[in-house]
Amino acid sequence: MIRPSLAALAMSCAACFAAPALADTLVYDVDGITIDEAGEVKRFTALVYDDDGVITQTLERGEDRPEDIEFAMDGKGQIMLPGMIDAHVHVMDIGFAALTLDLSDTDSLSEALDKIARFAADNPGRPWILGRGWNQEKWGLGRFPTAAELDAIVPDRPVWLERADNHAHWANSLAMQQAGIGADTSDPEGGRIVRDAQGNPSGIFVDRASALVGEFVPAPRPEDRDAAFAMAQQRLLANGVTAVADMGTPLIDWMTFRRAGDEGRLRIRIMAYASSPEAMELIGGTGPTPWLYEDRLRLNGIKLFVDGALGSRGATLKEPYEDEPTTRGIPLITQTQLRNRMSRAALDGFQTAIHAIGDAANADVLDAIDELASAYEGDRRWRIEHAQIVDPADLARFGRHGTIASMQPLHQTSDMFMAEARVGEDRLGGAYAWRSILENGGRLAFGSDAPVEPADPFAGIAVAISRTDAEGRPFGGWRAREAVSREQALAGFTADAAYAGFAEGRFGRLIPGERADFLFVDRDPLLAAPSDIRETRVREVWLAGKRVFVRGQQAEPVAD
Ligand SMILES: [Zn+2]
Repeated sequence: MIRPSLAALAMSCAACFAAPALADTLVYDVDGITIDEAGEVKRFTALVYDDDGVITQTLERGEDRPEDIEFAMDGKGQIMLPGMIDAHVHVMDIGFAALTLDLSDTDSLSEALDKIARFAADNPGRPWILGRGWNQEKWGLGRFPTAAELDAIVPDRPVWLERADNHAHWANSLAMQQAGIGADTSDPEGGRIVRDAQGNPSGIFVDRASALVGEFVPAPRPEDRDAAFAMAQQRLLANGVTAVADMGTPLIDWMTFRRAGDEGRLRIRIMAYASSPEAMELIGGTGPTPWLYEDRLRLNGIKLFVDGALGSRGATLKEPYEDEPTTRGIPLITQTQLRNRMSRAALDGFQTAIHAIGDAANADVLDAIDELASAYEGDRRWRIEHAQIVDPADLARFGRHGTIASMQPLHQTSDMFMAEARVGEDRLGGAYAWRSILENGGRLAFGSDAPVEPADPFAGIAVAISRTDAEGRPFGGWRAREAVSREQALAGFTADAAYAGFAEGRFGRLIPGERADFLFVDRDPLLAAPSDIRETRVREVWLAGKRVFVRGQQAEPVAD
């Protein structure tokens, strides 16, 4: 950036004194849409915000422009939406996934080697070249690749690449050398080092043998974390996401967010949920942190887990798995531990967000909320993350104690056939039951679980209103009566996601008193067909009245 000359500085200061605090900005000729104070959709044609990026007024068609406008911007009739809020992501994982070499799209060894060489050349500062997704079967190679093949393209740095099924790794010679692997290294229990005819390790480590090299992969450096965070912010903003709930924030991630905030690089808003009681105590101490950096960062509470996922049969069910009758899933915590951890958090005013996927897990959390709600009164906003398979008998319980179901529409289309296999048709009456939860007085917040699913709120809205995937399957929608209205879907990704993180009154709606976080998009999600909503292009993203993303351009830094 070019520093302004002293004269220019003096002039701009003179201008400051001439026009003190009231430097309102008007954005006119927009087709604005928001959820309003009453939870209804409101349309407007102009937006006014002050110096702090706080909205002072929205104007409807025919209303007069206010006076004292310092800046005016022509919205050129574009659709203006509130910045989208993703109520469940893993921020740093989004960034690290985007920064890791992805070989899953390679169809031959030579194609993979080209891609690895290019990645190494593009990333000269990386001490190790890390990647994933290779598959020699898909390449038609008829054998494993070798360290020598990697040495030929990256001789100067260790290379460590995970196979598509994550049951094997491929190393170059330098990686093996740094890990002290040689002909005399024996196979560990439960693992195998692939060797050549002379008995020398060939570069492939199967199952537990991977740990022999894996433990030498250096932890990300602060600059790697900063780069991953910058990448995550860029990906989120490009999708129109201006705020997220980070589900399971360890101290080291919190410090990465803080560093970004301190240095003026924090361009999204993060509602953080600590990854452990220890992290909660280290970050928040005696309670949730204040909102930092002008409403850009706050530790709200803690993320807890009661079960695993449906795909791996870790989710806990009331009855055995349909496709494996010997198991009901694996509880990750006892009922007593759950209550103790919830109490520990609630005692100091921390919010709890509890991962529960199976019907037994959801019942367990609802039981715990029932019990704790009397001891910990007031506005607690108990959150259940995922709430995928709920016993229909338990659906009504979401309407008590202000419980919030934080759900991910894209999981429904990714999981629907797997869920039928795991749980069986007749136990799916409360599966991904968005509408039933609302009808029972529960509250919804929508998200993506990125990077598990893409952090794409428009794809999320499309699924939420249609219960169909990108190909329109199944025709008419899967258990279509659980679809929500367009207005509810928009609220789930804006106002209601803000409410789920105690952020109402700060952001999530384009109403007076909240931050001017808005998007210009190329279509109206309240009118377009679901397949068209998926194709929404986010043209610009504004945070607190400052432009932070323009499609096709490098984002501008936030000037604080
Ligand atoms: Zn998650």
